[in-house]
Amino acid sequence: MNIPLTIKETQDGLKSKKFSAVELVDAYFSQIKKYNDEYNIFLTLTEDSAYKKAKEADKILSNKDIEILSEKPLIGVTASYKDIFLTKGVRTTAGSNILNNFIPPYSATSVLKMENAGAITIGKANCDAFAHGASGENSDYKATLNPWNKSYVPGGSSSGSAASVSANMSLVSLGSDTGGSVRQPASFCNLVGLKPTYGAISRYGVIAMSSSLDTVGTFAHTIDDIEIIFDVLRGQDGFDGNVIDFEKKSFDKNSKIKLGVAKEYFGKGLDSEVEGKIEEAIKIYERLGVEIVEVSLPHTKYGVSVYYIIQPAEVSSNLGRFDGIRYGNDRSFFGDEAKRRIMLGSYVLSAGYYDAYYEKALKVRTKMVEDFNRVFSHVDAIISPVSPSTPFKLGENASNPLKMYLEDVYTTTANIVGIPGLSVPFGFSKNELPIGFQLLGPRFSEHRLFEIGRMFHKEINYKPRVAL
Ligand code: GLN
Repeated sequence: MNIPLTIKETQDGLKSKKFSAVELVDAYFSQIKKYNDEYNIFLTLTEDSAYKKAKEADKILSNKDIEILSEKPLIGVTASYKDIFLTKGVRTTAGSNILNNFIPPYSATSVLKMENAGAITIGKANCDAFAHGASGENSDYKATLNPWNKSYVPGGSSSGSAASVSANMSLVSLGSDTGGSVRQPASFCNLVGLKPTYGAISRYGVIAMSSSLDTVGTFAHTIDDIEIIFDVLRGQDGFDGNVIDFEKKSFDKNSKIKLGVAKEYFGKGLDSEVEGKIEEAIKIYERLGVEIVEVSLPHTKYGVSVYYIIQPAEVSSNLGRFDGIRYGNDRSFFGDEAKRRIMLGSYVLSAGYYDAYYEKALKVRTKMVEDFNRVFSHVDAIISPVSPSTPFKLGENASNPLKMYLEDVYTTTANIVGIPGLSVPFGFSKNELPIGFQLLGPRFSEHRLFEIGRMFHKEINYKPRVAL
């Protein structure tokens, strides 16, 4: 069978009995059996529970009980989870050797919300260990390959999540975005990726990387699907004190949308093909009647520096829980990247350096928040690149941490200031690798970003595509 690429097509097919949920799950697992060993996308598969859940879905659908269905907006939707989401009774490694045998006693709120809405868990996706990375190569297991071309990285750190969706091994996936780890792999794998507002989705049960930056993000083929999942996931659960419930904000019918273009986002280091593609997207928006406004975010240039102070500081604190008493006294279990971040973080927090690095970074963080507040007082959203380049080759940046960190230049700002960012797929480069652009909006403006992204996809008659 041809696997459908949207939630609606999946559910229409199930309701009209074109295929059953069991057949659908068969199709995903046969794709996994064919390609997983080659592409290293899943670390753990949950085949038995997936079939059980599929049988339940078929039973619910045969009842035709509309009321049950309205409570199950994700019925029949297969989902994978980055392996830092706790899944009760199912191994969760965080991509690290330290947690090689860890079986969580409870599930993350977002996993439970997905499953309660009817989603079928396929398995746990590979990732950079503890979510440190931008390529998937920091996984303590094998590096995930990009399904569009296996000589290239799929992006990271949610490498397996993005690859699972673009390789047609799962319809949707959850990842985490602390500095770009959903938006960048989405853009490298031809997917839509959402990094929500800090405080929109509970992180309960997601292994912490950097607590003032971490968010739960989503991958899917279309913006409609991202919106469905976002509405399932958002809101308080009582376990993440930052999360608030909020009302959906839409544009008035007659309002003219204003899109900001920040000159600081088109600096040196931006690949000319990516730049050309963003310019093309801006022209399409102009054609759609959107007003393009040049804006300035002067503190953006400090984004990567601020991020690589605050983030390792918080990493060094969060990874402190993996102590020798409980996890074995062999610290060599930590990979090089985790060790590098623990050292950097301990350094910037140490007496004597705290003021010069950590405290200074917090001050610049406030300046960056002020920049964005000022800009969002006169534009609805900002359009920018996601990554300075198209997917890079496996091994190309792996031995140069600084080069790898610069990969995050366009994505870290959203985490530093706590705003949402949507990665929108938009075609391919000359060498047939995916390119996307990013929409950034004020806090809790996700639904408006969906509208702005959707009008673009409608205009170019966007059709989702899978790699394998
Ligand atoms: N590439 C960034 C880093 O290595 C982002 C990681 C993330 O968002 N989890 O820190």
